[in-house]
Amino acid sequence: MSGYIPEHSLQPGIPLLANERYFLILDFHFVPAQPSPRKPNQPYIMITRRQFLGISTFAAGAALLPAPLKALMMQSDRFRPLRGDVGIYVNRGGTIAWLNNRDALAVVDTQYPDTAMDCLNGLHRQNERMIDAVLITHHHGDHTGGNGVFRPYTRQILSHANVPALQRAAAERQGSLDRQVYPDHVYRKSYKMEAGGETIHLRHYGAAHTGGDSVIAFERANVVHMGDLMFNGLYPLIDVDGGASVSGWIHTLKTVAGDFGSDTIYVFGHAGGGSEITGSSRDLDAFRAYLEALHAYVASGMEAGKSLDELKTADKLPGFESMHGAGTFLSLPANVDATWRDLTRRPD
Ligand SMILES: [Zn+2]
Repeated sequence: MSGYIPEHSLQPGIPLLANERYFLILDFHFVPAQPSPRKPNQPYIMITRRQFLGISTFAAGAALLPAPLKALMMQSDRFRPLRGDVGIYVNRGGTIAWLNNRDALAVVDTQYPDTAMDCLNGLHRQNERMIDAVLITHHHGDHTGGNGVFRPYTRQILSHANVPALQRAAAERQGSLDRQVYPDHVYRKSYKMEAGGETIHLRHYGAAHTGGDSVIAFERANVVHMGDLMFNGLYPLIDVDGGASVSGWIHTLKTVAGDFGSDTIYVFGHAGGGSEITGSSRDLDAFRAYLEALHAYVASGMEAGKSLDELKTADKLPGFESMHGAGTFLSLPANVDATWRDLTRRPD
């Protein structure tokens, strides 16, 4: 979707200025004094795209709209239902997924403090129950920066067991220790929780994007959040210092695609160049093919005695000309550099 801005979304732990198209939300902060239980028989409002388009025809006169309608307008292009009671919230930072029904409220990832507040406000307008769980796909700041915003309104923050230490180590490197809110429940291999008729299944497939990635499946809705195991159409961040493994990542994507059906909707941490933020196993296969080509390019270059600097001069990998970058941070040279460091540290 065109409003997705990877250039502004991927610096872990660094708060970024809001893009101007989001300024409207910043003076609209609903902060409940205390988490309040849902009122009996309270309606659950989930605006549809069609409803949003209807409302948006009044956009020119938005300032004159009654507050509730204005609120729906502001949240509707960020909250997108996917299937069943599951949907996503898209803003800066890694994509947030949510489960929202009469008996459950759960969130996957928390972006940054300001966008987490906007997300929390939108969810509270629909469902005032305490959040059953905030689930974290991995430790990066654009996925955990809003943990502190959700903390008072959730029963638990859950992640893979490696996340708290990785989050602390990254925060030490970035000088942001005082801003961290860590998961309070962790698991190692696999963890299932039941919530509102939905089964949420967290699985760790080994080192990949980081050393603590979770694939989080809403099994009934058949929606799977991949976290940053998926950068759709975009050169990924390969966090070697945070425990990444390119070969592990390739293995994970292959295994995940086999573990779920052809009808599964996958949610991606990031997308670039007009690529979608959700998709199918075909997108997993395409991104895996890029990682395989990257791994082969660096490994065969090493074997042929080429230097890292020589390998970093490549502009594109053959067959993957359509991959998009974002600055030097998300680029082919950065990917080659990380893969070199990965292979040097852990030959395979
Ligand atoms: Zn990440």
